[in-house]
Amino acid sequence: MHETVKLLKDLIGFKTENPPGDEYKVINYVKKFFSKNKIKFKVYSKVKGRNNIIGYIGQGKPELLVSCHADTVPVGTGWKTNPFKGVVKNSRVYGRGACDNKGQLACLLYAAKELKKNESELNGTFLVGILADEEKGSQLGLKYLINAKKIKPNFAILPDIGESMKSIDIAEKGILRLQMSAKGKAAHGSRPQDGENAIVHLSQAIGKLEGYLLKHKKHRLFSKPTINIGTVQGGDAPNMVPSLAICELDIRYLPSQNTSKIIKELLAVVNNKKINLKKVIDIPPTELKDMNLVNQIQKTVKRVLGFKPKPIGLDGGTDAKALLMKGIPAIGYSCGEHSQMHVPNESIKIKELEQFSKVLIEIVKDVLN
Ligand SMILES: [Zn+2]
Repeated sequence: MHETVKLLKDLIGFKTENPPGDEYKVINYVKKFFSKNKIKFKVYSKVKGRNNIIGYIGQGKPELLVSCHADTVPVGTGWKTNPFKGVVKNSRVYGRGACDNKGQLACLLYAAKELKKNESELNGTFLVGILADEEKGSQLGLKYLINAKKIKPNFAILPDIGESMKSIDIAEKGILRLQMSAKGKAAHGSRPQDGENAIVHLSQAIGKLEGYLLKHKKHRLFSKPTINIGTVQGGDAPNMVPSLAICELDIRYLPSQNTSKIIKELLAVVNNKKINLKKVIDIPPTELKDMNLVNQIQKTVKRVLGFKPKPIGLDGGTDAKALLMKGIPAIGYSCGEHSQMHVPNESIKIKELEQFSKVLIEIVKDVLN
């Protein structure tokens, strides 16, 4: 059995559902692993129990960070095996976190151990990150470490995208969250003609936005922009005409768009004076400009695995976005299938664990060459 399988089975055994996280369980295990393999490390935590650990291999600049997260999404229902027991079946390992992100984490630990053996050959430092809180936005994990300057990597690889090593995430859509509200006029429910129904205004607006495609220029890396109507609230009682109704929109947009234009465009589509749009969150699209890291990874993967992964843009946002916004070149690249993330009976192919741990070692060597 490949050592990553054993590591993964151990990691699945630690319950690190977020919430509450409890990443310290995995971090304590990694501490022992690092000590046993004589890898230097530091533990950082913003909140007790929500630990992060960084292993240091090699020395000096540049510093390459490869980090996985120790937390998982909650188990949910629909499991055929115990989600906290790594089960080997059909050449795969099953369990919560197998594909997101403990499988990749097992590969990272294995790579760290192997690279430690010849660390003097590295020209720079390999930062081995096992981090907290990714599933809830990384405020206690990567974002904390970067903002508090606990780590200052020159570039980073985040093995957390699925895609079976065939794609490299180099760009991510912008995330715009809007609150759409409708104002009406309250009245007694027995006399609706005296009022003005905010829910009716809002639902007409929603109807117009459903399936609407925002104006945009086609982008070589991205699919089209999207609008999701995620929540809706309105009304206090059946016998009252509602004076207020609110929904929330999640818009994923492209570099050719900008948020004030998007808001104007949506107001024109809705075409109703009773509707108001308010910006709640706006995180711009990001795209890696410096392609050195990508070119190197493509070369290494081609040599080791025989195929060339292709750069892609993601619909969703990952921690790479946070790093890119700080000016740190960061990409997403990993084993595992996207369809296995956040689902019951989560699993990963053992073959992919083997391939990824092998190629990761070579990538680190080539980048820190
Ligand atoms: Zn993940």
